[in-house]
Order: sequence, then C-alpha cells, then structure tokens
Amino acid sequence: MNISTSQALFEKAQGFIPGGVNSPVRAFRAVGGSPVFIKSAKGPYVYDEDDNEYIELINSWGPMILGHGHELIQKAVSDAIQHSFSFGAPTRREVEIAELIVSMVPSIEKVRMVNSGTEATMSAIRVARGFTGRDKIIKFEGCYHGHGDSFLIAAGSGAVTFGTPDSPGVTKGVANDTLTAPYNDLEAVQKLVDANKGAIAALILEPVVGNMGCVLPAEGFLEGLRKICDEEGIVFIFDEVMTGFRLSKGGAQERFGIKPDLTTLGKIIGGGMPVGAYGGKAEIMNWVSPLGPVYQAGTLSGNPIAMAAGLTMLNYLNEHPEVYTQLEVSGHKLVNGFTNSIKKLGLNYTINSIGSMYTLFFTEQAVTDFPSAKTSDLPLFGKYFHAMLDRGIYMGPSQFESMFLSTALENSHIDRIIQANEESLKEVIG
Ligand SMILES: *Cc1c(COP(=O)(O)O)cnc(C)c1O
Repeated sequence: MNISTSQALFEKAQGFIPGGVNSPVRAFRAVGGSPVFIKSAKGPYVYDEDDNEYIELINSWGPMILGHGHELIQKAVSDAIQHSFSFGAPTRREVEIAELIVSMVPSIEKVRMVNSGTEATMSAIRVARGFTGRDKIIKFEGCYHGHGDSFLIAAGSGAVTFGTPDSPGVTKGVANDTLTAPYNDLEAVQKLVDANKGAIAALILEPVVGNMGCVLPAEGFLEGLRKICDEEGIVFIFDEVMTGFRLSKGGAQERFGIKPDLTTLGKIIGGGMPVGAYGGKAEIMNWVSPLGPVYQAGTLSGNPIAMAAGLTMLNYLNEHPEVYTQLEVSGHKLVNGFTNSIKKLGLNYTINSIGSMYTLFFTEQAVTDFPSAKTSDLPLFGKYFHAMLDRGIYMGPSQFESMFLSTALENSHIDRIIQANEESLKEVIG
C-alpha cells in the first residue's frame, strides 16, 4: 500500500505540531508505523491522502454513527452557515436540542451544552462538588473522562491512599482529591467510601467502558454503585460521552435501566461537530450559573452550526429506532464471524462486545478491568492492526480502544471485515 503522501505530511507535521498530531492516539505510537492522513469520507468509507480506500471502524471515535457525510446533517449545516457562524447569544436550536435531550435520556431533566466531552466531565464534577460541598471524587482505573486534571490521576498503592498525578503538570493537590478503584470491584468502592466518609462528592464511570477497549459492567455492578451513592449522598455520574445515543437512544442508562444523577455527553451529540453536554437532576443542575453559584461558561457553547448538526443527528436517532436494531444485527454478525475465525484458527482470544461496540483482545483471559485488559499481547495487536489496514480496514490504532459500527455498513462490508480479520490473524500468528 502506498502511503507516501501521508508519510510526507506526517514528517512535516512533526516540525510544527507536538508529535505531528492534535490528539495523541492519532500518531499510531501504540501500533508503530506512520499514520494515514484522511482526505475525505463517505458512508462506510474513508479515503487517505494517497487515495487508499478503507472501511470505517473508528467513525471519528463514535460520532459518525450514521456513516460519513449523512445528507440530512450536511444539509442542516449548509443551511445554518447561511446565517453566520456564531453569535455568543441564545438561539432557537439550543432550546430545541435541550428539550430533545431531556426527552431521550431518562435521567436528564436539565442540560447545559459545552464544546467537548472533556468540558462536560470537568463541569459535571464541579457542579457535583458545589452541590455536595465535598471535594473528593471516585473514578475507575482504565476509564477515560477527557484530559481534565482531576481525571489524569493514577491509583495510589492501597485502597485508601490518595492518587498520584498521571501526567506532569497535574498537581499533587488535585491528585489528593481523586480516588481510583478497579472497574467492576464494588468492594473496593465500598472501602474507599468507608475510608472517606462524608468527603466524596461524586463517583464517575463509563457505564460500559470504551477506553480500555470494550469492557462491560458485571451483573449488579451499576446497581451496587447506585446503592452506595444513595446511601452516602454521592452524586452518581455516568460518563456517556461514548455510549450516549449509541447503546440505545437513551444511552447505557436506558439499556441497563439505571438512573445516574448526572450524565456527560459528547461525540454523537454533535453529529461530528465539537459538542459536549452535561445534565441531570434539576435539583443539581440548578446550581449551575447564572441560576446557581457554580460557574461554567463558553464563548462558543451552543454554537449555531454545531447545534444544527447535533439537533439533526439526535432527531434522526429519536425518530428511527431501526438504527439501533440494525446496529445490533451488524454487531452480532461481526462478532459471530470473528468468533468462528478465532475457533477455526485454534485461538482462544477474548472478544468483548455490546451493540455496535467491540474489542478483540489478544489475550485468553476474560477482560473485566484494566489489569486483565493489559494481559493482551500488544506487539501482536500492532501487527494485526497493520495487517487489517493493509486489507483496507481502518481500526482504532490501539488495543485499548473500542471499534464503532455505523449504519452505513452493509452486510457485504461486515463480510469483508470478517474476511480481513481471519486473514490478518492467520498472517500475524504465522
Ligand atoms: C471521548 C471521551 C471523553 C472526552 O471527550 P472529548 O470530546 O475528546 O474531550 C470523555 N469521556 C469519554 C467516555 C470519552 O469516550
């Protein structure tokens, strides 16, 4: 495969942009090699600068749930730009999208629009702290909540110790307020709560994890967390930036029937434009300024072009339940195909999946948390990734990512992915 134009661009980019990219995973460091630069995309396909065609499994990390360049969203955006690009003033579509989000997401009564998932989670914990008058938060090892300081914290050595900064530039002071538990470990959470009575403002998690690869909540885990939060007056936050509008039109909370107190949203909510949101119980959201004392603002928040894209996307999903049926069917077909290939090749790798999210882990262990995800053979995954790319399948360039299906994938595309997977596994296992 010729990727010489991409290689030249990457070479040049490294002179002007740290690492040549504007978000680290794009640099392919986890899989080696040079990233492909994308020129355009349509439906299930992306095209790179050398005009190679790939079947999409990243889909902008989720937002392109209807495939690329969906004509309704394209039209909404081109209509909206006729009326200028930004006002910094309230607009009609902000009201419409807020009303729609409240109607779609079971636990949301009021919602505030922001510009990214990172802003959504940062703001949600601030309002949780304001509301409870407490400082500490609990998060889970392997969950990702954007790059806010409070979340870039590694677990301390014991269950009751403070976290330590996971990135230079994050202060010890911030780390002191973030406690980390292993995913799917209710007992560890109970211990943290007992050791920090009356000090924990919020507990935040991905109700289904996408950011250590796809990892599902164990039976009773979400219910157990809900109970602990109720007992201790802790604000329970679902980070549904990835799962929102994907696992169902009401997200993971609808699918699992558990209501958090606050929800953070991003990715699909902008239809491909930079949008995030946080919302939840009115009682808590009423603490946000200008109604309440917790400050949070944004020059471009609720941007009219972004709202046009997001509103059109959400309206479409709300009115087309068959989207979710199709995604379930596609997901099942793909995972069945992968499972058959793995068996046929005498392998015993783990596939985690739910709906239109899946990860093939290069490990024989069940993957239920970050330590088990890390038992994967990462060099082998790197080889597999490139074998897939050579066969025209564009996957997330890390073992610790979920793939995302879109409704633009037809049976023939799923068959091609299954075929490429089998060939790639054969190639890398040797
Ligand atoms: C992507 C993601 C974020 C961060 O969103 P950005 O828009 O990249 O800032 C936060 N939480 C989860 C669960 C995500 O998947």
